[in-house]
Amino acid sequence: MSVFTMTPRRARAQQLALGTILLALAAIVVAHLWTEYRRIQKSEEERLATQSTIIAQNVELHLASTNRALEAILAYAQNQDVMSQIAYLKSMVSAMPGVRSAGVLDHTGRQTASNRPENIGSGFSHRDYFKTVQRSPTAKTLYVSAPYVSVLNLYSVNLSRAIVKPDGSFKGLVYATLNTEYFDTLLKSVLYAPDMWAAIVHSDGVHFLRRPDHVGSDHELSGDNAVFMRHLHSGRLRSIIYDQSTPRHNTQVVALHTAHAAHLNMDEALIIATGRDTSMVFSPWKRLALSEVALFILVSVAAVVGLIVYQVRQRLFEEKEATAQKALRAKDEDYRLIVEGTTDLVVKMDTQGHYTYVNPAFCELYGAAPAELLGRHFLSIGGEDDQDAAGIHLSEVLNPPYFARYRQRSNTAKGLRDIEWLARPLRGDGDAPHGIVSIGRDISQHVETMSKLELLAHRDGLTNLPNRMHFMATGDAEVLAARRHGHPLSVMMLDLDHFKSINDTHGHHAGDQVLRTLSGILHAGNRIQDVAGRLGGEEFAVLLPHANLHNALSIAERVRIAISETGTVTDKGETIRFTASIGVAELRDGIDDFERLLQLADEGMYEAKRAGRNRVCSVQSLEGSDPCGV
Ligand code: GH3
Ligand code: MG
Ligand code: MG
Repeated sequence: MSVFTMTPRRARAQQLALGTILLALAAIVVAHLWTEYRRIQKSEEERLATQSTIIAQNVELHLASTNRALEAILAYAQNQDVMSQIAYLKSMVSAMPGVRSAGVLDHTGRQTASNRPENIGSGFSHRDYFKTVQRSPTAKTLYVSAPYVSVLNLYSVNLSRAIVKPDGSFKGLVYATLNTEYFDTLLKSVLYAPDMWAAIVHSDGVHFLRRPDHVGSDHELSGDNAVFMRHLHSGRLRSIIYDQSTPRHNTQVVALHTAHAAHLNMDEALIIATGRDTSMVFSPWKRLALSEVALFILVSVAAVVGLIVYQVRQRLFEEKEATAQKALRAKDEDYRLIVEGTTDLVVKMDTQGHYTYVNPAFCELYGAAPAELLGRHFLSIGGEDDQDAAGIHLSEVLNPPYFARYRQRSNTAKGLRDIEWLARPLRGDGDAPHGIVSIGRDISQHVETMSKLELLAHRDGLTNLPNRMHFMATGDAEVLAARRHGHPLSVMMLDLDHFKSINDTHGHHAGDQVLRTLSGILHAGNRIQDVAGRLGGEEFAVLLPHANLHNALSIAERVRIAISETGTVTDKGETIRFTASIGVAELRDGIDDFERLLQLADEGMYEAKRAGRNRVCSVQSLEGSDPCGV
């Protein structure tokens, strides 16, 4: 599968994974915010409920104590004189901080007693609180009036008890007016936040008191206060209500508590409400939500951008990689074609010398399939003629100079072949060679040509005897060997007599034939170790290793006789007789090199010529006597 088909699928998987992670993160954020919201909501509700309960309990205590005080006034009003009543009322009001004033009204609504004596005689029959009691006077009922504006121009609530005659008819009432200031302080004392408010509301829906004041909110009618109605209609003593009924205010969370002590037998109830603006309650939560959402968005954007950047870079990288791979494959293919198409031998080996690759040319040379050759050691193929040398070559390749060039004579399917190898190590990325690559070439043809050329260079074309250069080199080597081993060495030098006239008489071709005949005589007459050479023209020389002068002179004499007795038959059937003059010299102290030795032989030959030709002479044997005296 190529990277081109893998990339989009992997990219989609990465996007899906990121999406899932972000979704999970969002779920965590939402869950955390929801929990936090519920916690704040619950704690606020509990707090508000606690505050409303505190006020309600306080109010209930006041209702109870005021009721008891009214019962005491009731008793006074029927038995005591006005002055005593006034004194009692005064002391009662001063003893009860929750009561501002108290008094007695007769059945016409006229004030008969009061803690404020100046009010005695005033008529209050127009007041709702009087009318309510007058309408249905019940002895045990504690009447709670709707809030009204008193003579002191203050909003007031009156608590009243009816004075009922034994026949049940209405005789008047005793009342206590609640002290607004006292409840004002009570309400203020429970406020714990700037937006919090607390109120005491009459059960007909009219506010008695609300703190803090705000314009238009006090003493609103029940129509605007649906929240109180909802509480009343629920029939519960306590409720928590979220109020959205007032369009000009934010939603309020309101804890309501009905102060209605059952034993008091009240005609109406007072409801305590504490509330807060939900926007204020949840403003810390909103800040938290905002920061968490912002953080989430930031993280999401960063993650998405990061993924996009990563994927783009990854795609670019993969495209580049794919292009490089393609180029590499194309290059590999090129190399494969070259290696498999070449007639040269290409092999790879491990560092121990086992074949890991063999090219078709190599397989063809050894007549084997690659499978038969792979894994085999290179010494096991072709009968390596010098295994030690091969080991040295292996070491040269794996160690400095990391290069080996050597020739191998190998037994192949095409017979014995000469192969020249060039081996280098395979290093890959590391320094240590991990294999060897060898390139070989069958140079058998070349070797053959070279040896032919060598032969031509060393031999005389007419007689096939070593030429002068080769003969001199051999002579040099023999001098060195004779000196090293201390054995004797002699040389004889030979020149045909009057050869010019043979040429002149029988022609040059016949002369050549004479030269070939002579070389045959020299060859046949020599011992196995003797080497004859043609020095030029019709001058010849023979190296005689292990021969001293004496031996050399007798060998030369044998040769001279053989020459004079042999003769040559020409193409025309004529027999040519010829002779040669021979000089002999032996290697002695004072003779520096072979050239000098040959010169002495030449001098001997000159002597032979001078002495009449067809003889053997040596300048060494004479020491003053005839050089040809042998
Ligand atoms: P001398 O007895 O004094 O040696 O007399 P000579 O005639 O042999 O004199 P010299 O050695 O100077 O003459 C050499 C002659 O050998 C001259 C040349 O024509 C002949 N010659 C040299 N090389 C060849 C060759 O390859 N073939 C033939 N046919 N003749 C050659
Ligand atoms: Mg000559
Ligand atoms: Mg001659």
